[in-house]
Amino acid sequence: MTIDLIEQRVVSCGRCPELVAYRAAVAREKRRAYRDQEYWGKPVPAFGDPRARVVLIGLAPGAHGSNRTGRMFTGDASGEWLYRALFRAGFANQAESTGRDDGLVLRDCLITAAVRCAPPQNKPTPAERAACFDYLEDEFAALTGVRVVVTLGRIADDSFHTLLKRRGSYRSPRAAFAHGAETAVSLPGSPAITTLASYHPSRQNTNTGVLTEVMLDKIFSRVRELTA
Ligand code: SF4
Repeated sequence: MTIDLIEQRVVSCGRCPELVAYRAAVAREKRRAYRDQEYWGKPVPAFGDPRARVVLIGLAPGAHGSNRTGRMFTGDASGEWLYRALFRAGFANQAESTGRDDGLVLRDCLITAAVRCAPPQNKPTPAERAACFDYLEDEFAALTGVRVVVTLGRIADDSFHTLLKRRGSYRSPRAAFAHGAETAVSLPGSPAITTLASYHPSRQNTNTGVLTEVMLDKIFSRVRELTA
């Protein structure tokens, strides 16, 4: 199955009744600042280069970010941080990500997520994570030639390691989650992948200094080394 077909299935998914209701309620009620906009209000598909060697895995759409704009990490503070870093590292053609028609293109990079619908308080339940896991598996079956997987936060990291335990193998012991932690792994079609853990660029982390721009730049300069 191609990435395009997988993402068509994602966008029409309704497996998780509570998330279906929540994403629609947020889209209907809106935040005051966006009251004149039409919210996406559906599952958010992966975004980027379908032949990417670099895959980023996030947590889930933000209620008024991706759930509003329909594109991964677009329309909120997390995305501003992430796309600025991708632009500095040469993986994006521009630093701004404001909407699906803003001209942003990713090069050799694709962004996906552990969960594709906005969850209340950014906390999907274990059942919702399990329900959405198939899509991540399908994407990594379609993406051959992946060299680096950047996991943005602990939940994304756990999701990818769940996938590895089912379909892949470890070439080095799994590193405990920490910013910059690396593990050498492989998947069918991608025999030499490095997983690179990063703190999530959430407002909670960036406002408190847990994650700085220098720290995020170090992740992507390491990605550049690994894909040279
Ligand atoms: S979270 Fe995933 S599995 Fe659940 S409804 Fe959304 S797209 Fe479907």
